[in-house]
Amino acid sequence: MRRLQNQLVLVYIVVVLGYLLLTLSFYLASFRPLAEQLKYEHRNEIQFAMDSTAGLVEEIFDRHLALARQTASRTAIRDMQARFLADELSRAEFEDFSLDKLADALRANDEMVGIQRHAPDGEVLLRVGRVPPRENVPPCDVPASGKSSILGVMTLEHQVVLVFCSAIDAPDGGRVGFDLVFMDTASLQQVLDRPQYHDLTTIAFGLADQDQRLLFWPSSLAETQGRNLLQHHLRSGESLPSGYLLETHPLEGRRFVLHALVDEQRFFSSINQQLGRLIVVLLFWGVVILIATLLGLRRLLDRAIEVRILTQQVQRDGMTGLFNHDHLQQQLEREIARNHRYRTSFSLLLIDIDHFKRVNDEHGHQLGDQVLKEVAAGMERVARSADLVARYGGEEFAIIMPESDPEGALQMAERLRSEIASQDHWVGSGRVAVTISIGVVSCPAGVSSPDCEEMTRLADVALYTSKREGRNQVTQTVLKPE
Ligand code: GH3
Ligand code: MG
Ligand code: MG
Repeated sequence: MRRLQNQLVLVYIVVVLGYLLLTLSFYLASFRPLAEQLKYEHRNEIQFAMDSTAGLVEEIFDRHLALARQTASRTAIRDMQARFLADELSRAEFEDFSLDKLADALRANDEMVGIQRHAPDGEVLLRVGRVPPRENVPPCDVPASGKSSILGVMTLEHQVVLVFCSAIDAPDGGRVGFDLVFMDTASLQQVLDRPQYHDLTTIAFGLADQDQRLLFWPSSLAETQGRNLLQHHLRSGESLPSGYLLETHPLEGRRFVLHALVDEQRFFSSINQQLGRLIVVLLFWGVVILIATLLGLRRLLDRAIEVRILTQQVQRDGMTGLFNHDHLQQQLEREIARNHRYRTSFSLLLIDIDHFKRVNDEHGHQLGDQVLKEVAAGMERVARSADLVARYGGEEFAIIMPESDPEGALQMAERLRSEIASQDHWVGSGRVAVTISIGVVSCPAGVSSPDCEEMTRLADVALYTSKREGRNQVTQTVLKPE
């Protein structure tokens, strides 16, 4: 029974280890690569969002550059300016004519907030709309003929504006002056305020200038940790804390850099949730299958134990646990059949406890039972595992020794006799010792044994001889070839 249970524990361990190994190999071979692949592909979405935002910002810059260019190309004002610079017109005449025209240009477009026109030497000639004080004009690299450029950003009356510069070209290719055009940044702000992914806190776009100043940032996140982190990172060059990703995209030739600050946890939250659900489902079913397997094994063990118990009930003697008389008879017949077929050697021992009646009489039946059990255990200890030890009935026992020659059988009978004689049986009033008498019938190899009944009779006769000759001894009969 214990062996069965040990085997089952082994099977349990193998099943559980197998399950763990299966789970681990699934995780390493399938789940982890899948999660990495998903995350990799998901990251590409940052690039898509970056490209589309950069496209929108560049569109705004292009529109503003074109507007600045258009203003500078108005020929009527340009010609008047050329004549004024050539002293053909008075300043008053020039201003009368040009201020109206420039104001018209300003009105024609909502995004333009102010225009300041300069002479080639930088002298301020005309100012319309909102412009900075004269002494506060940003340094200006006038671009080449026919071009306009972004100078940067400045604050006008608490409003951030973009500053563009355009050359005013004379028809002969010379230079008549240059314009500074100030543009509203509401449309730029709108682009950054537009959520590109779930919400602005997942991916926030910021626009910084060449000097790493963060100029534009989603207005709803003005006071957030993300903005402070990005600003600090741009200023100090220190890396961002973990949990954030930063992607940068310089806007070519525009003196600005677009930054995407990604909150990794939010960004990957949907994928992490999906992967989490997958793991839960797999673990759930894995555990269900494991439990079902273990329960199945448990039932199997219960059945096996039941069968074992039933078999034992049929084969074993209830008191001593030895094989019973019926089983002994069956095995003896099998041994004789084997002998008839292969001429194998074997021996049959009949054992009887001497004067057992006295033990019962002197110490009681209960102690008699105890002695019987201890004698039975002693015989099992001495017998080989191949031997079959049985309770023949009452205080008589029998042993079948397969494949044993007569000498071996006699030695074993002697060992058995002296073992039992040396056993002490403890009772309340002291020590009791018993002896046994043994009758052995040995069938050597090559000799055909008689039938079951005759074998038993011969053993009984030998046993009777041992009794008659004084008990506590062994008598052996060795069968002769016919
Ligand atoms: P000997 O064999 O040496 O001639 O003497 P004996 O006293 O052993 O022989 P006998 O056959 O006269 O007595 C056998 C006794 O064994 C009788 C019976 O009370 C006792 N006996 C048989 N089976 C059991 C049992 O299961 N339990 C107990 N306590 N005694 C048993
Ligand atoms: Mg007897
Ligand atoms: Mg007896």
